[in-house]
Amino acid sequence: MRVTDYELFAVPPRWQFLKLETSDGRVGWGEVYTKWHFAGDSEPATRSAVDQLMHQYVLGEDPSRIEYCWQAMYRSSFYRGGPVHMSAIAGIDEALWDLKGKEADMPVYDLLGGAARDRIRLYHHVRAHGDDVSDPAAAAATEAREHVEAGYDAVKLVPTGGLEPVDTPATVERAREIVGAVREAVGPDVDVALDFHGRASKAMARRLATALEEFEPMFIEEPVTPEQDREFARVAEATTAPIAAGERLYTRWDFRPLLEADAVDIVQPDISSAGGITETKKIADAAETYDVSIAPHCPIGPLALAASLHVDAAAPNALIQEQVIVDDADALAYVDNGEIFEPTDGSLELPDGPGLGVDIDEDRVRERAGTDLGFDRSPGHRADGSVGER
Ligand SMILES: [Mg+2]
Repeated sequence: MRVTDYELFAVPPRWQFLKLETSDGRVGWGEVYTKWHFAGDSEPATRSAVDQLMHQYVLGEDPSRIEYCWQAMYRSSFYRGGPVHMSAIAGIDEALWDLKGKEADMPVYDLLGGAARDRIRLYHHVRAHGDDVSDPAAAAATEAREHVEAGYDAVKLVPTGGLEPVDTPATVERAREIVGAVREAVGPDVDVALDFHGRASKAMARRLATALEEFEPMFIEEPVTPEQDREFARVAEATTAPIAAGERLYTRWDFRPLLEADAVDIVQPDISSAGGITETKKIADAAETYDVSIAPHCPIGPLALAASLHVDAAAPNALIQEQVIVDDADALAYVDNGEIFEPTDGSLELPDGPGLGVDIDEDRVRERAGTDLGFDRSPGHRADGSVGER
């Protein structure tokens, strides 16, 4: 069996689904993270990367040799790693695992060693409320309570907007009001995770982390930007809150400094950014040796979420899974078996179908393909007009 063809579909809201075909008529699907694409006529850089990797390293290959294909795509690219290259590898890798599972008539997690757990816990986002509501703390508390009433026992929120390098006591107090209101609304049996989103300087990260730790966050995510890898350990030393990071890291080698510095308690590789199932499982295994859990990042579509669930199923150190689609009818319309994404008490069953276990509605994908995936990444400005993190 050989890989004979592929198609990459750009579909709303800003997702790319990759279909691989083989010489014996099998089909495998993966999801390529849309990177480096802003509004306009250009195509996502990840599309060009998929085209190049497929033609150079995958078309004509035996799809059962996933590790060989992965190594060819990674090591043969002299300039390697990073968001574009690793997202393209990821989508191809997921589709190869989907093919392998379908060939074996087994779910991917069985091929990864079998189920290490019975179900996979999810968290639900609480939207960041800004100027659009008069009382952001009350709005966040109400929304968090709704998710708990729907069965979730974990929520996550971003407690601040953009920050100044050294911000005011009032900014810290507003964050305390929001997080405090959410904690009070959900009570001590529910986890509340906080995502600083890399908005804080090292000074503000330490100040916010210590100011918010009384609310016992499940974790503090990206307290500083990924470039400041030394600072994660300092924030971790300054607070009792567990520290999480990794949605903007792309390989085992990117995660290694954080693990070696004992700087994080949870790593958050994004399966469709970090080299796919092959690499994410290895990141999970590397993390396990440091007593670090994984909580995979996944703000994209159903194929990426399913791929994440297979690693969560097989990895003993999977803590919880991010998702944005389980209550999104438009997202689930791409899938004929959307019931695999219906949570019970805030958890999903393991996806039991062969391969990724996702039955893509290809007619629907074709009908909606070709959409402009551009999205707004205009600069976030500080008070003086300079560019800050957003
Ligand atoms: Mg995040």
